[in-house]
Amino acid sequence: MLSYRHSFHAGNFADVLKHTVSVSILNHMLKKDKPFCYLDTHSGCGAYSLSSEQALKTKEFNNGIMRLWGRKDLPLPVSNYMEQVAEFNALKDLKHYPGSPSIARQMLREDDRMFLFELHPNEFTNMRENFSGDRQIKMAKSDGLQGLVANMPPKERRGYILIDPSYEIKTEYEEVVDTLIESVKRFATGTYALWYPVVNRITIKKMERDLIASGIKNIQLFELGIEADSGEKGMTSSGMIVINPPWTLKKEMQASLPFLAKNLAKEDKGFYRIETLVGE
Ligand code: SAM
Repeated sequence: MLSYRHSFHAGNFADVLKHTVSVSILNHMLKKDKPFCYLDTHSGCGAYSLSSEQALKTKEFNNGIMRLWGRKDLPLPVSNYMEQVAEFNALKDLKHYPGSPSIARQMLREDDRMFLFELHPNEFTNMRENFSGDRQIKMAKSDGLQGLVANMPPKERRGYILIDPSYEIKTEYEEVVDTLIESVKRFATGTYALWYPVVNRITIKKMERDLIASGIKNIQLFELGIEADSGEKGMTSSGMIVINPPWTLKKEMQASLPFLAKNLAKEDKGFYRIETLVGE
């Protein structure tokens, strides 16, 4: 039984990193005049009110998007992301937060396509309402990891795949690696981004080692921590592992992560990692 609801966490520091990386990748995909496919294995419902009961219960957005909203000194990749958040808010105030599918939808062109997977029945119903009648989007209430493998390669032969599990089930850390290995076999040139939370550093180090040993080439890692690793405090850091990143991504994250670590950190304890796990 799935219990995770992204509405408690929308706009937190992890979303800031995940969506900044996503916007950078999407902007790069848009540079070529050729259609591409965006596939979101764990979509969530796509739209979140920051005044919902859930958002106000945790107020996680206060330590994420709220710290950046309205600032004029954002590094360019963060300001590109902020433009997408602003576009989602019709008025000047920040009232709503766009989920990953809404950000991608705002950026897609007429010939690009989207595939969204969401397993939770309520989240799926909300997602379907949010994107109803949109002919560029295919939605499925089914397992996103299986859906990913089944749909590779996309007919466009150009694709950005976001894998953003809730990691409620411990085996997911291994499943995502197996799924990536299988998908890359079928679609070697796709750009894949895997989000991970650091709750227990040992689990993430194992995931990194498994990916390094997988034979997949060209893997970079971008991580943002707001306080030191701890076995007790829940998520203190999170990252994106990107396979076949755009050649510009590392530079963009070098410009963004020091700023985010400084501005989203708890008591000056912020840090970041930018690493090439496997070269090209
Ligand atoms: N990607 C979203 C965003 O950035 O706005 C947030 C997604 S949230 C972290 C993870 C979502 O995955 C939850 O809505 C959960 O119900 C859904 N989920 C969990 N297991 C799944 C699975 N095996 N396949 C598809 N969706 C799943």
